[in-house]
Amino acid sequence: MDEKIVRELEGIVGDEWVITDIEKMRSYLTDETAEPVKPIPVIDVVLVKPKSTEEVSAILKLANREKISVFPRGGGTGLVGGCIPTKEGIILSLERMDGIEIDRENLMAVVEAGVTLGKLMEEADKAGFFFPAHPGDEGAQIGGLIACNAGGARAVKTGVMRNYVKGIEVVLPTGEILNLGGKLIKSNTGYSLMHLIIGSEGTLGVITKAILKLYPKFKTSITMIIPFEERHNAFRVVPKIFQSGVIPLAIEYVEKDLMEKSAKRLGLTWPCKEGVAYLLIIVAETDEEAVYKQCETIAEICNELGALEPLIAESRREQEEILKIRSEIYMALKPETIDILDVAVPPANMSKLIDRIDEISKKNGVYIPIYGHAGDGNLHPHIMKVEGWTLEQYNTIRKEIYKAAVKLGGVITGEHGVGAIRREYLSLCLSDKEITLMKEIKKIFDPNNILNPGKVLPM
Ligand SMILES: Cc1cc2nc3c(=O)[nH]c(=O)nc-3n(C[C@H](O)[C@H](O)[C@H](O)COP(=O)(O)OP(=O)(O)OC[C@H]3O[C@@H](n4cnc5c(N)ncnc54)[C@H](O)[C@@H]3O)c2cc1C
Repeated sequence: MDEKIVRELEGIVGDEWVITDIEKMRSYLTDETAEPVKPIPVIDVVLVKPKSTEEVSAILKLANREKISVFPRGGGTGLVGGCIPTKEGIILSLERMDGIEIDRENLMAVVEAGVTLGKLMEEADKAGFFFPAHPGDEGAQIGGLIACNAGGARAVKTGVMRNYVKGIEVVLPTGEILNLGGKLIKSNTGYSLMHLIIGSEGTLGVITKAILKLYPKFKTSITMIIPFEERHNAFRVVPKIFQSGVIPLAIEYVEKDLMEKSAKRLGLTWPCKEGVAYLLIIVAETDEEAVYKQCETIAEICNELGALEPLIAESRREQEEILKIRSEIYMALKPETIDILDVAVPPANMSKLIDRIDEISKKNGVYIPIYGHAGDGNLHPHIMKVEGWTLEQYNTIRKEIYKAAVKLGGVITGEHGVGAIRREYLSLCLSDKEITLMKEIKKIFDPNNILNPGKVLPM
């Protein structure tokens, strides 16, 4: 990077917050994408850590003027290489922007982009509220969670990030600052630019602040582990639960060998000995009696559809442990994983998808463990390593799974996003016209293509 530009960046954020020594920024060159598909970072980059929106704006004005690429970065927990610098330029880390205010009267939090999910959950809890969204890694930052429209296990009742975001402050690639939305329950004023920025994966603007909806604390929650000998029965249960009027906070599908492996990694024991496939169901309400009533209804439905004896976790510690084991599956599988997929189909088609993936697995002799968000129709098949295989062979498997999902009315990604590694597959589920419109939108926001180039849109 040109010395003159580095000096100018130092003038904006202070010398201390501009890092040019590659050894001091190694952890900023990567994310949690599986190694075999992770993009190789370009190392001719400078790491900049602004403290305010005005500083972000000044950095983007400079970058736009000089046509320097900027790669916004949150907690680096992304799974599709979204924050990895793939061109020389600036890594923009929002970590120092970590202010948080709770507005009790409106049940909202005003949160700077660098606040981690863990910190938001903690501060909401201290103030007597609850932030239900839980994408697996609590080190993810608010900017990254909104940029990816993250989902996670607890999205069944209260939705994905988009459902929590009421307002955002965003800096455009050309440096202007926009405040979109607000502390509003209703707003119908023109096209929603806010919803366009949510899920744009750092390609349309840098999110600097957000207004997020909070929930009153649920009085009671219970986690049920429901074992099945036959996994199709687990999927048959899901629509029946919704039809009964019960909307749990989470309905996850997991398998025994994966939970045991994950628990072992954490030094814990998976508590359920029976069955091979499980639904993990979290029921949470502000009314204690309602929780017990709903659990009873779920237990009856499961019993009718061939479930074995459910295991009930009531203490906070037990419930947190179960969620922790579930969240750790990715890390437990990661060393042998080529790619973690994130396909989503209409929930009623999950059984068909899983059967189709099994066929692909058997036909090609590749192990594809599956788990995921059964209440949302969003599954995570892992393509695992096969000795001697080339990346081309894995690509064939990935494409077959994508095509199977699309044929069942689905999409190639339900929550992780497109990032750097899925953009060439977009056309499997989006029309040419949709892709053209997206490219035109990108040009309007970012005429010089400086913000996170090489991500989301196909070449
Ligand atoms: C163990 C594990 C479990 C996970 N489980 C889930 C899950 O259940 N559901 C789910 O949805 N995800 C899950 N993820 C993926 C990941 O946590 C989410 O994608 C999360 O939203 C990434 O946030 P981050 O702050 O780490 O973003 P990063 O990885 O730093 O960046 C992700 C993208 O957001 C952009 N970005 C970051 N900050 C900003 C900003 N301020 N403004 C504009 N763009 C920005 C980046 O440019 C990049 O494109 C999991 C990850 C791990 C490691």
